[in-house]
Amino acid sequence: MSLLKKILLTFCILAASIFATQAADQIKVASFSTIDSEIVQQVGGDHVEVVALVKPGVDPHEYEPTPADLSEVSKAQLILTSGKHMENYLNKLQEATGGKADLLKVGDHFSSLKMKPREGEKSSVIEDPHWWHSVGNVKQATKIIRDELIKLDPADKADFEKNSNAYLAKLDALDDWLKRKVAELPRDQRKLVTSHDAFQYLARDYGFKIEAIEGVSAETEASNKHVSDLIDDIKKQGVKAIFLENTLNPKVTTEITRETSAKIGGTLYPDGLGTGDASTYEGMMKHNVATIVDALK
Ligand SMILES: [Zn+2]
Repeated sequence: MSLLKKILLTFCILAASIFATQAADQIKVASFSTIDSEIVQQVGGDHVEVVALVKPGVDPHEYEPTPADLSEVSKAQLILTSGKHMENYLNKLQEATGGKADLLKVGDHFSSLKMKPREGEKSSVIEDPHWWHSVGNVKQATKIIRDELIKLDPADKADFEKNSNAYLAKLDALDDWLKRKVAELPRDQRKLVTSHDAFQYLARDYGFKIEAIEGVSAETEASNKHVSDLIDDIKKQGVKAIFLENTLNPKVTTEITRETSAKIGGTLYPDGLGTGDASTYEGMMKHNVATIVDALK
C-alpha cells in the first residue's frame, strides 16, 4: 500500500469513527407536537436528533400514529407530546417503547383553561389543549424541555442553558411585538369569532372576547341553533370579520358571512405550525395576531 493510500485510509477510519460517536451521542427524540419539535430543536441544537411525527399543517386532533411512526418511537429515548388530552394514543406509544423511553406530556406541566361543553355534549369540563397560543406557556415549555434534556445528557448542560436562554429572549421579543400589534385595536373591538374553539389562551393574554362556531376539536359540529345564535350575536355586536382555519372546511364560516355584514378576515393557524410564514412559532403567532388585528381595525 502506498503512503498516500495509507494516509487516506487512516483519515477515512478516523472520520467515520468521529461521525459514529457524534450520532451515538445525540438524544433521539420523537415529537408529536409541531411546537415541541421547534423547542427541542432550538434548545437541543446538535445534541438532539428530532423526528417530527405530527408535521406542520396536520390536524393534531385527527392524527393517529402509523406503524412506521411507531417504529420511529421504538428507537427514541425521549417522546414529546402536546398533552392536556390532545393525544388519545399514549398507550400505543408506551407499548412501542416497552417503557424504555421518557414520555414528556409537555402541556400537562402548567395550568389549563377550561372549555365549556355545548348543549348535547356529554363531558362536563374539558381542559383546553391549545396552550401554545400563550407565549408565557411556550416559555414554560422551553424550561421543561431544557430540564429534561439536561437530565438525559448532563454533560451538555451548559449548551442547553445557553440555547434555551437565547430562545427565551426571542420569545420575550415576540411577546412585546404581539402586545404592540394588539394595542392598535381598541379594547371594545377585540371580538374574535373563529371556527373551532382554539384561541382562549390568546384571548386571555391579549384581552379578546371569543366565540367559536364549533367546539374544542374540528370534529365537534356546530348545531343549527348555535350557528343562528352566533349570527344574531355578530349582527348585534357589529363584528367586522370572522376567520377561517388552515385545517378546516370553510363552509359554515362562509355561510355566516352571507347572513351578516362580517367579512372573512383571513386564515388562522389554530392547531400548531403551518407552512410558509407560519412554519416557525414566531411566524405563526405574528401571522395569527396581525391577521386578526388588521381585519378587525
Ligand atoms: Zn384545535
